[in-house]
Amino acid sequence: MSVPASVVIAGASAAGLSTAETLRRQGFDGRITLIGEEVHPPYDRPPLSKQILSGTWPDERVWLRDEAALAGLALDLRLGARAEALDTGAKVVRLSDGSLVSYDELVIATGVRPRRLPGTADVAGVHVLRTLTDATTLRAALAGSPRLVIVGAGFLGAEVASVARQAGAQVTLVSDIEAPLSDVLGPQLGELLVGVHRDHGVEVVTGARVEEVLVSGGRAHGVRLAGGHTIEADAVLVSIGSVPNVEWLAGSGVEVGNGVLCDQYSQAGPGVWAAGDVASWHHPGLGERIRIEHRTNAAEQGMAVARNILAGEDRSPFAPVPYIWSDQYDLRIQIHGLPRGADAFAVTEGSLADRKLVALYGKDAQVRAAVGINMVRPARAARALVATPTAWETATAVQEGVTP
Ligand SMILES: Cc1cc2nc3c(=O)[nH]c(=O)nc-3n(C[C@H](O)[C@H](O)[C@H](O)COP(=O)(O)OP(=O)(O)OC[C@H]3O[C@@H](n4cnc5c(N)ncnc54)[C@H](O)[C@@H]3O)c2cc1C
Repeated sequence: MSVPASVVIAGASAAGLSTAETLRRQGFDGRITLIGEEVHPPYDRPPLSKQILSGTWPDERVWLRDEAALAGLALDLRLGARAEALDTGAKVVRLSDGSLVSYDELVIATGVRPRRLPGTADVAGVHVLRTLTDATTLRAALAGSPRLVIVGAGFLGAEVASVARQAGAQVTLVSDIEAPLSDVLGPQLGELLVGVHRDHGVEVVTGARVEEVLVSGGRAHGVRLAGGHTIEADAVLVSIGSVPNVEWLAGSGVEVGNGVLCDQYSQAGPGVWAAGDVASWHHPGLGERIRIEHRTNAAEQGMAVARNILAGEDRSPFAPVPYIWSDQYDLRIQIHGLPRGADAFAVTEGSLADRKLVALYGKDAQVRAAVGINMVRPARAARALVATPTAWETATAVQEGVTP
């Protein structure tokens, strides 16, 4: 395959920018068009639920690159414009401003958007958290020390609970599972996290499903749970998962399911690739199709796609060890691999009681994930047990202080 003359990247965030930068770093000097529907330059999302929400960073600190660095990439940067339609036959993307952009290679990096509760899109006092605007709006709401109900106790809900408590809000965290993050991290760490949130004064309501946001005069004043119980609130954050931004691909022939369906090279079809939160690809190491919403993955997959675009027949499968971190109060949680669905669990360093530990997760007699809580270096060391297939017995036998 010859080197393409033009690459169009839809989605100007972590994955899209990383693709563009890697193309340039690898010597690609053709046209790169980077299309982003947001008006902001590419920015980072993890600080939105942490430093931006708490106000410890000025908003501009989230920009991924300054003006000079962006200019150095010589991009055809189209901000404030959506990719609205794709014609894979003619190899053309139509934008919301009416312009048509042709490509030799297209990278889909359009990410995800928050799932909402039905009928709440325009209700005052109901928040979601995905964009910088969402974060500054929620921050302003927290300034009034509101009664805040958080619907959903995943990473996002748990992080916001921690920041909101520290900002003086009265926080209720409602989850339909038995503990925050227990669906991902299992019951042991789920219970640990419930304890941490309760110690900080968060009311944690588990095993409860929010059926309705209560509204009067266009403003939310609480939620109603299945069974009829209501919780009064001044503000409601809905953090119940995400929906991949794939609707604009309708009719293009690009296969979509839970995201853009790619092969092990992150390729979705001839001349079409996907990277980041929107990409669902076949992970050859795990032997399964996965889509992950992690910051590190977005950057790494963007790099991998750029390299594969330029590699012709020498392209490489994308088989990372997934990594995610989360900051809650004074806890830094780090996850290497995929703990969800594990059938074995062992604390191999530290202890649940100290809230400082490394835990291994196993599946089918192999180590599948390593999770650290406030043990940064040991957690990184344990990553090796995930990166190289390691028998569960071996990994837990060589560790000291194993809790069965
Ligand atoms: C509040 C918050 C906190 C997070 N914290 C962590 C954390 O602590 N650790 C961690 O590992 N991960 C975290 N994440 C996840 C991480 O931010 C994402 O994995 C990462 O942003 C994914 O990057 P992306 O480029 O794939 O997608 P996105 O960041 O979603 O970017 C996609 C971009 O494409 C744009 N777009 C969508 N449709 C179109 C279209 N049709 N045309 C043009 N542009 C379009 C969107 O506006 C968006 O700017 C967090 C996410 C959020 C929201």
